[in-house]
Amino acid sequence: MFVSELRCVICGRTYRPDEVKYTCPVCGHVGTLDVLYDYDALRRAVPRETIERNPDSSIWRYRSLLPLAADAKVPPMMVGGTPLYQSPRLAEHLGLNHVWVKDDGRNPTGSLKDRASALVTARAMAEGIQVMTTASTGNAAAALAGLTASVGLPAVIFVPASAPEAKIAQLLIYGAKVMLVQGNYDAAFDLAVAASERYGWYNRNTGMNPYTLEGKKTVSFEIAEQLSWQAPDVVVVSVGDGNIISGVHKGFRDLLELGWINRMPRLIGVQAAGSAACYDVWKRGGDPATMQPINAQTVADSISSDLPHDGVKAVRAVRETKGAFVSVPDQDILDGIPVLARLSGVFAEPAGAAVYAGVRAAMSEGHVRPDERVVLLVTGSGLKDIRSAMRVAGAGYPVVPDIEEVEKIRAALNLPVFK
Ligand SMILES: *Cc1c(COP(=O)(O)O)cnc(C)c1O
Ligand SMILES: [Zn+2]
Repeated sequence: MFVSELRCVICGRTYRPDEVKYTCPVCGHVGTLDVLYDYDALRRAVPRETIERNPDSSIWRYRSLLPLAADAKVPPMMVGGTPLYQSPRLAEHLGLNHVWVKDDGRNPTGSLKDRASALVTARAMAEGIQVMTTASTGNAAAALAGLTASVGLPAVIFVPASAPEAKIAQLLIYGAKVMLVQGNYDAAFDLAVAASERYGWYNRNTGMNPYTLEGKKTVSFEIAEQLSWQAPDVVVVSVGDGNIISGVHKGFRDLLELGWINRMPRLIGVQAAGSAACYDVWKRGGDPATMQPINAQTVADSISSDLPHDGVKAVRAVRETKGAFVSVPDQDILDGIPVLARLSGVFAEPAGAAVYAGVRAAMSEGHVRPDERVVLLVTGSGLKDIRSAMRVAGAGYPVVPDIEEVEKIRAALNLPVFK
């Protein structure tokens, strides 16, 4: 493995990987750690062509760029290798020349979180961990429940009792022990931390465990490789805790360090207007380390966070790439679900579809130009939250089983006849 050290985003202190498990002991919870590599050694040992020739299309094709021993076992589930669709009709509708949709809802438990849970589960197996735990708005939990089930590792999950039914169903079906927290995501987060401290369970909590982001960065490796190593101009990503956008940033930074791509895309972070802590601090040019909790309210449960646990890295991702944050109302997020599905074929949950409203907002605010190559990262499947989808799906036509009734509806809808 090529990991050299862990570095605190606040104070810059560095640690050996075996010295610290979660955040910087000096800075506390805001002191999230970057996982750094010996890029010179990597460049020598792993030419890009060896990756291109690897027949494995899952995230493990990039395992030499991951914090995992060469001989470590990995979970058997097929994580990553998700499609990147070029979407000309969506592009035309948006007034852009080139739009791609990266469909990460295609992962085994239906969201990008599988990338993180797969890596963290592999590390847990290598270290002989007995119990894993996490707090989650739902998807990270479903991912951890699925990945740990695939290797027979027990998992204890803390989710808000209000999480969408489909996500809770996944947890229960996979056999995780599910704590339905009478409170929001942030309450679940603190409870998972307390349980992990008290019982020694290995914690996957977002923004606390430095390795989730390392798993998520594989989405950028895939985007770059799928575009023949020509990085896009812009990647649009929805943001709750800010771990995904930080992972996307890290992936492209790794590739730049290795010289496999020659420029960094601008990252556009999309937040729900009712859960916009990163947007707010970015907008006023503030210091994300001093962010105060808000009272987050949004239909897009996966991006609801009172105090983004990776806010420092997320704001850094946007600032360093000269990108932007945008904030979009819930109604725009919901309205985007059918538009995205009808123009690209990808059915997303609200947090995933938020990139559609987000790219529109970014264009109208001048953050994206029409001639740029834009990737919309869809983070979760629409089947995760049917209730939200049905609010904007439209209705079917009740019909008695008689073809003449069908004919009335056909005529009313002006559906063509071919004879
Ligand atoms: C977790 C999640 C996000 C947001 O990721 P953060 O790391 O919390 O910013 C967006 N969309 C979906 C579907 C998610 O599950
Ligand atoms: Zn520190």
